[in-house]
Amino acid sequence: MNAPAKPLEHLLHTLPDLDWVTEEARVARLSQDFSWFSPVLKRQLAGKTAEAAVRPRSEDEIVRIVAACAQHGVPITIRGTGTGNYGQAVPLHGGVVLDMSGYKGFLWARQGAGRAQAGIRLSDFEKETRAACGMELRCMPSTYRSATLGGLFGGGFGGVGSINHGPLAARGNVLGLKAITIEPEPKVVELRGPDALLMHHMWGTNGLVLEIELALAPAHDWLESIVVFRDFDAALGFGDALAQAPGIVKREVALMADPVPSYLKPLADHLPAGCHALIVALAPSSEPAMLELVNQWGGEVTYRKDAAEIARTNRTLLEYTWNHTTLVAMRNEKDLTYLQCAYTAGQHVEQVRKLHEMLHPEVQLHAEFIRNLDGRMTCSALPIVRFTTEERLQAIMQTFRDHGVRINDPHVYIVEDGKAGGPLPAGVLEMKKRFDPLGLLNPGKVRAWMSGVPA
Ligand SMILES: Cc1cc2nc3c(=O)[nH]c(=O)nc-3n(C[C@H](O)[C@H](O)[C@H](O)COP(=O)(O)OP(=O)(O)OC[C@H]3O[C@@H](n4cnc5c(N)ncnc54)[C@H](O)[C@@H]3O)c2cc1C
Repeated sequence: MNAPAKPLEHLLHTLPDLDWVTEEARVARLSQDFSWFSPVLKRQLAGKTAEAAVRPRSEDEIVRIVAACAQHGVPITIRGTGTGNYGQAVPLHGGVVLDMSGYKGFLWARQGAGRAQAGIRLSDFEKETRAACGMELRCMPSTYRSATLGGLFGGGFGGVGSINHGPLAARGNVLGLKAITIEPEPKVVELRGPDALLMHHMWGTNGLVLEIELALAPAHDWLESIVVFRDFDAALGFGDALAQAPGIVKREVALMADPVPSYLKPLADHLPAGCHALIVALAPSSEPAMLELVNQWGGEVTYRKDAAEIARTNRTLLEYTWNHTTLVAMRNEKDLTYLQCAYTAGQHVEQVRKLHEMLHPEVQLHAEFIRNLDGRMTCSALPIVRFTTEERLQAIMQTFRDHGVRINDPHVYIVEDGKAGGPLPAGVLEMKKRFDPLGLLNPGKVRAWMSGVPA
């Protein structure tokens, strides 16, 4: 008698018409993301891989894959394009990587809202919303060219535009979504508003999202500038004044203390040695008002490109902000890593100044101005850290906490240990029970689930 087929072989056999990847090296690549940003995760996640990957193109294909995985108890790790940086898309217990990047249709945009399938790239989504109704994304990661809408929702935070609209999680940014349950007979369900947010930033562990509907913002032809300073306090004061100025229309204000600007090699002509620099994207009509602030704080504009030139050269300063700053720094020097911090609105300038003074140059400041969940201006920082040991990294994070700065630890792969910062709210776990009752979505990532289904 033949031995019974393994669950995965059974899947390949019953769904032969789908776009499967089984070659070991390709599957290993599709099982990785940017968790190598963290020396801790790099060690902990080494060798973690799925047994196969599959790339669906329609809802019907997704339903068939999910049903077959649920019938055979095969774990599913959902992947957008794998730009997440805490191993969110790295399978901990084999199974199948569900590559959503082929499920990428734009659906509609009108009256301040837009909807698309989860695998659409954010830049493609925005192109469509601009064309349909002159609106753009309210916030997007600096990886917007490659990252997917589902990946931003499942693993991201916000980014460019968060200076106006806060992170994606701010009330009113996510309007609704369509998700599918991981069961032998999957159900497709629409969730609206706060219910939809219960799946946000859960790293693909409490629901597979098929479509997302977002609130949009009026589109502008953003002008990009670099403003440099000799004095750190002046750079910080200018950044905060620009961020807070209600009449200046902007999309991005990023502050980088020396030596961070020196890592941005392609921009070297615009970044004098030893400078502190700000990368700014603002509406052209706001440029004169920004220049008044530049003069007031003693800065100098060393770079200026309008939207037409950015489009023509296909080069944007946005790809030097947020975690792109970390990426270019790490390309320059080995032994660098990073942190993710949320300063306290109202105290953020003092906290930035104090921690810079205490920890520089081991910790090199890179801060992004954003509105917090209450709408108050503050900084979210991604400081670059010269890595020595895991113990020292922990001690640095503790110093931030001791000064009232929240750390969203990017060196962990369990959901509760990251931005969630502790036990998950009951509603989030209810969502998991409802959408993943068999616990097949990347098992091993939700601590509350590991000791049995919570009551
Ligand atoms: C250089 C660099 C810069 C970055 N800048 C930013 C930034 O500015 N802001 C920011 O927030 N992040 C940033 N990131 C992190 C990341 O790029 C973004 O969060 C991005 O939106 C992830 O999209 P992705 O398609 O690559 O998702 P993936 O990495 O593929 O997935 C991310 C998570 O979402 C889950 N997921 C994906 N699709 C779905 C779905 N359909 N349903 C349910 N779960 C799903 C996955 O399981 C995974 O847990 C940066 C990363 C890098 C490397």
